[in-house]
Amino acid sequence: MPDDTIPDDNSSDCGPNCGGPRVRGIPPGEDRERLMCPDCGYIAYQNPLIVVGAVATWEDGRILLCRRAIEPRKGFWTLPAGYMEERESTREGAAREAWEEARARIDIDHLLAIYDIPRISQVQMIFRARLLSPDVEPGPESLEVGLFAWKDIPWSELAFPTVVWALREHHERLGRSDCAPAVNPTPDALARWEKML
Ligand SMILES: [Zn+2]
Repeated sequence: MPDDTIPDDNSSDCGPNCGGPRVRGIPPGEDRERLMCPDCGYIAYQNPLIVVGAVATWEDGRILLCRRAIEPRKGFWTLPAGYMEERESTREGAAREAWEEARARIDIDHLLAIYDIPRISQVQMIFRARLLSPDVEPGPESLEVGLFAWKDIPWSELAFPTVVWALREHHERLGRSDCAPAVNPTPDALARWEKML
């Protein structure tokens, strides 16, 4: 889940003879700085990106994890997840990421969690999914991939806090599929999970 991708600035929406959005200022009627084109007034809005991913399990409950081949957090384990592409649904995006990162074919079940990460202007939507086959292998963004029983999850080598959160929520909801999606954990939940390590 790289968090350093710069959104396309849509400079093609400028006029043909424009220099493109390159001046920061507060547009009339707005309350914050935007990047604007001084030639035509085009405003290059930058908005949060959506990351889609999955806690994908095989029939025996083992969970698919991928060891990252790319920065950030290269070498650490993560859930298959990544930025949505244009013109795809969140479920399609989560399934695509599982294929790209672990050559895993999955059947998306339901939304497990939605996480706000305002610090990096990101929203993460993590689904629960069933692996259609236990045969997985690393895609180009993974060093290795594997199916982990709960007791074997490498907690100290997980790439991001949201990976920990999603795994914990998944485990606490085993056998249940009718729950509302989880959100960012409360301090109490974090303290409870910390004690379990
Ligand atoms: Zn322009």
